Amino acid sequence: MPDVAVVGSGPNGLAAAAVMARAGLSVEVFEAAATIGGGTRTAELMQPMHFHDVCSAVHPMALASPFFRAFELARRVDLVVPELSFGSPLDGGRAALAYRSLDRTAEALGRDGDAYRRLMGPLVHRIQGVMDLTQHQLLRFPGDPVAAVLFGLRTLEQGSPLWNVRFREEFAPALISGVAAHAVSRLPSLAAAGAGLMLSALGHADGWPVPVGGSASIAAALAEDIKAHGGVIHTGTPVESLEELVPARATLLDVAPRGLLKIAGAALPDRYRRSLESFRYGNGSCKVDFILSAPVPWAAGVLADAGTVHVGGTRAELAHAENEVSAGRHPDRPYVLVAQPSPFDKGRAPAGRQILWTYCHVPAGSTRNMGEAVTVQLERFAPGFRDVVVQAHVTTAAELAEYNRNYIGGDFSAGVMDVRGLLQRPVVSPVPWRTPLRGVYLCSSSTPPGPGVTGMPGYHAAKHALKDIFGLPVPALGL
Ligand SMILES: Cc1cc2nc3c(=O)[nH]c(=O)nc-3n(C[C@H](O)[C@H](O)[C@H](O)COP(=O)(O)OP(=O)(O)OC[C@H]3O[C@@H](n4cnc5c(N)ncnc54)[C@H](O)[C@@H]3O)c2cc1C
Repeated sequence: MPDVAVVGSGPNGLAAAAVMARAGLSVEVFEAAATIGGGTRTAELMQPMHFHDVCSAVHPMALASPFFRAFELARRVDLVVPELSFGSPLDGGRAALAYRSLDRTAEALGRDGDAYRRLMGPLVHRIQGVMDLTQHQLLRFPGDPVAAVLFGLRTLEQGSPLWNVRFREEFAPALISGVAAHAVSRLPSLAAAGAGLMLSALGHADGWPVPVGGSASIAAALAEDIKAHGGVIHTGTPVESLEELVPARATLLDVAPRGLLKIAGAALPDRYRRSLESFRYGNGSCKVDFILSAPVPWAAGVLADAGTVHVGGTRAELAHAENEVSAGRHPDRPYVLVAQPSPFDKGRAPAGRQILWTYCHVPAGSTRNMGEAVTVQLERFAPGFRDVVVQAHVTTAAELAEYNRNYIGGDFSAGVMDVRGLLQRPVVSPVPWRTPLRGVYLCSSSTPPGPGVTGMPGYHAAKHALKDIFGLPVPALGL
């Protein structure tokens, strides 16, 4: 056994392994699946030479996460940043659009342009402070208190029934809610508002990049660095018990609390074990991938230039769809997240073909195929969509849970996204990555700062393991 064993090769397991290997320790990674990457895999899901992102597709944090900045991900992976970060179609061929340029966005929002600029501008200008606040443990004094206050006040507004007070039209509210709904939470709610404001501000600061070659190129860059520093990665190697990893001095687990219970349950103190047993998971997602014979025929043609499109209509319609899921029901008209990688990465499909990535939220554990509901929503805002579909591939929430043991019930956030779920991740502690077992750390998105391809949970866990067990500082991570 090496100095360090890492269980799971999602972006967080790989980030943790890279930090430990860079510190000069011997590191081995054990991945249950046949390939590395967890939520950052790209695969030929339907036909040869058509490369679909199985889970994550668009990476607002690839340029912004403190870990990826230190790792210089942008110098290792070709990240294409669309000028049109995201958009929301509305009926009648209209669309709300968020460009990288805040000014251009405000101009396009007409009467609500200034109100949107006043909401978002201070967060864009203090984006590093917003990152400091949201990418660390929430229970700490913020590095930029002014940014924290500005962010907090805006989160209170957009997370409450006051969320429409500053707006007069439908566009800006639809735009903001389209992003907030990423959180798989009630709308309005504080957690969704916080996530939405942070991601929207990034859309105007660094943009929302699409990696050339798909998300797998992020996993590959991490794996390459681990190997270059002596680390070894084993695939097809599920770890079922901590005893399999003895005598590694430190073990970092890229697993959900349920996985930790399975691997270490008997050794854990009662109180901590009970906390893990009562850990709350969120609702699921149903993924629908498409091969198309032409770009999506959006009624609002400008949406063809967007990396990401939030489909569902007005703020009220999005809230209704998300609140149905929160109540344990499948919405008739779901909120659909759409990524269009093809225009930005020509290598994803042969000439004359496009790939389209979509998913919608569903109740936890759902076995329902949402392919038709997603298609109907797309057809509503892109008449003729059905005619360009060559093939579709559906992964239900129950199948997502089988695909990755961290996605309990299809919850790829690996823990419910509400204020309590953000503070108690998986327990309320100044160092939630540390478990009561000496040398055993949790490094998955079930720890702060939570879901998304950020590498930050892995980075935080590695930082504490280095200090606690080896008395080492965090090494330089750049090229
Ligand atoms: C459909 C979908 C769309 C998404 N879209 C985006 C997006 O566009 N942008 C974004 O930033 N994020 C997105 N995400 C979320 C993102 O993928 C996750 O937040 C992120 O991958 C979590 O990283 P992780 O390392 O914590 O866990 P994961 O990526 O889930 O990796 C965990 C790994 O550990 C392995 N493992 C677990 N238990 C064991 C064990 N006992 N032994 C060995 N191996 C084990 C698993 O097989 C898996 O490979 C999406 C997720 C899904 C499913």
